Formats: sequence, structure tokens, C-alpha cells
Amino acid sequence: MTDRYARQLLIENWDQTRIKESTVTIVGLGALGTVVAASLAMAGVGKLILIDFDTIEVSNLNRQLFYYEDDVGKPKVNVAAKALRAINPSIEIEVIKNAIEKVPHDLLTTSNVIVEGLDTFKVRRWLNAFTVKAKIPLISGGMYGFLGNIQVVIPYHTPCLECQSLIPEQELQKACTPFGEGRKEIREVVEEKKFIPSVSSVSLVIGGLMAQEALKIINGIPTMNNFLFWDGESGQFTSVPLKRRKTCFVCSDTYHLDIIPVYSSKDQRFSDFIEQLRYSFNLGLEIKILYETQHMVITDALMGTEFHNGEIFRVIDPSIPMPLKFKIYLN
Ligand SMILES: [Zn+2]
Repeated sequence: MTDRYARQLLIENWDQTRIKESTVTIVGLGALGTVVAASLAMAGVGKLILIDFDTIEVSNLNRQLFYYEDDVGKPKVNVAAKALRAINPSIEIEVIKNAIEKVPHDLLTTSNVIVEGLDTFKVRRWLNAFTVKAKIPLISGGMYGFLGNIQVVIPYHTPCLECQSLIPEQELQKACTPFGEGRKEIREVVEEKKFIPSVSSVSLVIGGLMAQEALKIINGIPTMNNFLFWDGESGQFTSVPLKRRKTCFVCSDTYHLDIIPVYSSKDQRFSDFIEQLRYSFNLGLEIKILYETQHMVITDALMGTEFHNGEIFRVIDPSIPMPLKFKIYLN
């Protein structure tokens, strides 16, 4: 062991025992995920949990490590695990061929760090909310052509992904229904899988930075707390300062004091109130309302139901991993 890790042991504040005892979950074994996985396996991270439901396509081969032409059609997690075991046989690897939302929460909460290189905002938002509530550091990375970015979320210390408007407006629009336009206007919106321009020279840079932040967290070294943007064309890194948002519905404890809409039975139908909630929090179309006091699921169909002052209900939405809790104030 000493020989294998001799050069990294020379790094100041490096703690190989902590590295060995750590678990890192990697969500998405694409261009960024494979680079992170390779780097962490080489560094000797004790356990890697690999999560991806996809199979290998020929168009992945220009940038995703581990995958060869013979592997086309095989599950990414299986091929990646085999390669990683060859890189470092002393580490444990667990593979899950499933969508992240369907992975048991108990397993995810064993992670010291979760790293994501996902290609859809819907799943990224889910993971952000999950990791904040579970208090697990999240390292998020993205790339587009010669551009790349990275953000580290230390729950309740650094801004989460919902604290700023870095999620494109059109993605937020997909997840919400305009308030006040009536239910007839609701359209089913399916998130399309877009093909973004990408090349391995960028994923090696951004994936390398993501792996480095993971190793810093494990070693107890302070991480970056800004949004780091890399323009590979000019070769410039830009660090964008971020602030936690007081009204963030994911990581703020006080959001309900500031922006929760108040339901008044006198001048508002309950279904309209729900639409207002949906709009305020960018909730999805498959929203369900769980009425806590009676432990029953209610929907817009329950318009006209009588509510009492101070009653609590919960909103369940696919873009968040746990219900949002609301209290009703009647005026
Ligand atoms: Zn936040």
C-alpha cells in the first residue's frame, strides 16, 4: 500500500486512512463520472458506488473512459466496475443499474460525498434536494463544447444548486404551470434528451477538478465555495461568488416565513391555491398533496374541502425527494 500511494502521501494534509475508509457515490457514468471514478479509484477511496441505468453507445466512445467498441450495448456500470477493479483491486465497488431516484436512500446516506455528472436538470434538482436534506456534500459538474463548470454544495454552509438562478429559465418553466391560467392550460411536458457538444479534453479537466474536490472533502481540506466556470477556448477560469438564498425552498429553514402563499378560503379556491404553490416553488406537473392530519392523499379534485386554521399538509413532487410541509392560515 505504501508504494502504491507513496507520491500522494507527500501532499500536505493528506490522510490515506480517511481516504480508505470513505465511500463516494458517483451518479452518472458518462464523460465526467468515469473521469472522477478513475481518479478516486487510483487515489484508493475505499468504496465507490456507481449509479447509472444506461448502456454504452458508440457515440460515448469519444470521451467516456473505460468503454471500448466491444462494450457497445453493455451496461455502463458493469463495464466501469470491471475497469476500476483492474485499476485498484483493493477497493470495493458496488454497482446499481437504476435511476438515482429509485436507489434506496439508506444506501445513498452511507456516502461521504456524492458526485454527479448528470445530463438532465430534473434529476440534478432531485439529487441537490436529497443531498441537502441528508447533509451529504454534493459535487456537481457540467460541460458544453469547450466550456465546463463545477460547484460544490456543502449543505447549509455553501449555496445549493437552487439558491441561484443558474438553472436555465426554460428548464424551470418545464417544471411548472403558469398560475391562474386554468387547468386546461396544463400540458404534459416530457424532458427531452438533448445531445450536447462534448469532447474528452474538457471532461478530463472538469472531471479532474471534481475528483479533487471530493478528495479535499475527505481529507478535511476546505473546498471551493464559488461557482467555477472554465472557458476552454480562451483558457480562462472564472470564479463566480455565490450566496445562499434566504428563501431557497431546499436549503433555507425560513422559506415558509417569507414566501409561502397564504390560503384564504374566502376569496380563493383550493385548486387555485395549489397552482400558486406549484408556481412559487417550480413544482412539477405530477404534484400530489398529502393532507397530514388525516393521512390521506388529496388532489385538486378536493376543491371545496374544508380546512382548518393551522392544519398541516405536504406537497409531493418528483423534482424533490421528500415532501414540502405547509401550514394553512385562514384569514
Ligand atoms: Zn439553496
